[in-house]
Amino acid sequence: MSDHIEELSIKKKNRGGRPSNSIWKDINKGEAVSSGKFAAFCKYCKNTWSRNKISKLEEYLSNYCPD
Ligand SMILES: [Zn+2]
Repeated sequence: MSDHIEELSIKKKNRGGRPSNSIWKDINKGEAVSSGKFAAFCKYCKNTWSRNKISKLEEYLSNYCPD
């Protein structure tokens, strides 16, 4: 539960799609590496990224993650 993640999703107002923070239910968020990029770890397939964009992680979850 992090308040500032909530704020980010409110600003984005991604209508019709999943909220941008929904991937964090499936992916563990690591450190912010640079603007818009994070270290991350998939809870399902154990894939890890040393840095990746949220949009790429969303794409990964919907298209490539085996689960
Ligand atoms: Zn995965």
